[in-house]
Amino acid sequence: MSAPRPPLKPLEQALAELLDFAVALDGVESVSTFEADGRVLAQNLLSALQVPPQDNSSMDGYAVRCADLSPAQNLLSVTQRIAAGSSGTALAPLSAARIFTGAPIPEGADAVVMQEDCDVVDDAQVRIKSLPAPGQWIRRAGEDIRRGAVVLQKGARLTPAALGLAASIGMHVLPLARRPRVALFSTGDELVMPGQVAPEAMKPGSIYNSNRFFLRTLLSRLGCQVSDLGIVPDRLDATVQALHGAAQGHDLILTSGGVSVGEEDHIKPAVQALGALDLWQIAIKPGKPFAYGRVHNAHFIGLPGNPVSSFVTFLLLVRPFLLKLQGVTELAPATFALPAHFTWARADKRREFLRVRRNPAGGLDLFANQSSGVLTSAVWADGLLDNPPGQTIAQGDLVRFIPFSEVLG
Ligand code: AMP
Ligand code: MG
Repeated sequence: MSAPRPPLKPLEQALAELLDFAVALDGVESVSTFEADGRVLAQNLLSALQVPPQDNSSMDGYAVRCADLSPAQNLLSVTQRIAAGSSGTALAPLSAARIFTGAPIPEGADAVVMQEDCDVVDDAQVRIKSLPAPGQWIRRAGEDIRRGAVVLQKGARLTPAALGLAASIGMHVLPLARRPRVALFSTGDELVMPGQVAPEAMKPGSIYNSNRFFLRTLLSRLGCQVSDLGIVPDRLDATVQALHGAAQGHDLILTSGGVSVGEEDHIKPAVQALGALDLWQIAIKPGKPFAYGRVHNAHFIGLPGNPVSSFVTFLLLVRPFLLKLQGVTELAPATFALPAHFTWARADKRREFLRVRRNPAGGLDLFANQSSGVLTSAVWADGLLDNPPGQTIAQGDLVRFIPFSEVLG
């Protein structure tokens, strides 16, 4: 009789162990701010200046001195014109400066009156129709960023807005964490490549390699430099050889397929022959046959072959792993409690990640076919429902929703 199988590892535990292995890569790269989208800052960014640099107008109108104006005295002479990019001179008493959005407030002025609240009397005079309050329509120097402030922190992932902010303090080059070098390969004798075999020429038993396409894209979105090593045949010697070669010059080897318990699954013994397998099999559905180990000096992650399993385990496990390698500290996606607009009667022993979609009524709809081979579900869905083990779901139950927008890239 064979020994009883140990219980599968819960996801939280597997993730914690996996992240312990993800020691941040060393090396800082200077990269053009134009090229830094999605990359991770390796140092705090401090501002050498204040933004905005001076008090400036947030309206097209007239800069005035409030003390000059009263219900009885609302006529001012227009003595200067200040457009964005130029600067004026000190404002004399009883005068106004024609001013435009973004232009610096002249010395002495303490409010801007928008042009809609003014009557132009002639070229040289303006009548102020509504009395301004001091400070009105003035953007204060430094109200966005103080000099010396930490504008973006080490470990932050750069978004388009963050790139704009970095540029606003004059950074045209940024200190970034090194890109993880990832070797990617697919296993499976059944796999053929789109473009190499036409649909009508497919041999019985063969399928197109779909995992390769989304895995490569997901890796690139996470800032990785990908070496796509193609398809490895289902043989132990070929698998050992491929892993051995891939360990050179890569931080991570990522594979899909061949990591279950069948006779055609050679990943596990190959990793054990070259290094160590530290994690194998997780109590989630889809995605049970997930593996982590080391091959020589490289990290190794084996994803299941079923496309939805491969996709989901990437988002849940590989994504935080790769971000941590780059020094990111916030790894958990934001999740939301939303009502289920369906029932789920089949509780599973494993924690399940169901493909669902938000509907206009504010609830979640379920994709009808939750098979791990049905990639259509992942396209139809806009996120995953994280359902605890042993749990059924009734109409209206609040469930935990992870939007794909939180984890794709
Ligand atoms: P495996 O984990 O190798 O046993 O594969 C499980 C299932 O996923 C099988 O039906 C495979 O044909 C399928 N599969 C494996 N790799 C891929 C791939 N790269 N693209 C699409 N399907 C795959
Ligand atoms: Mg296989």
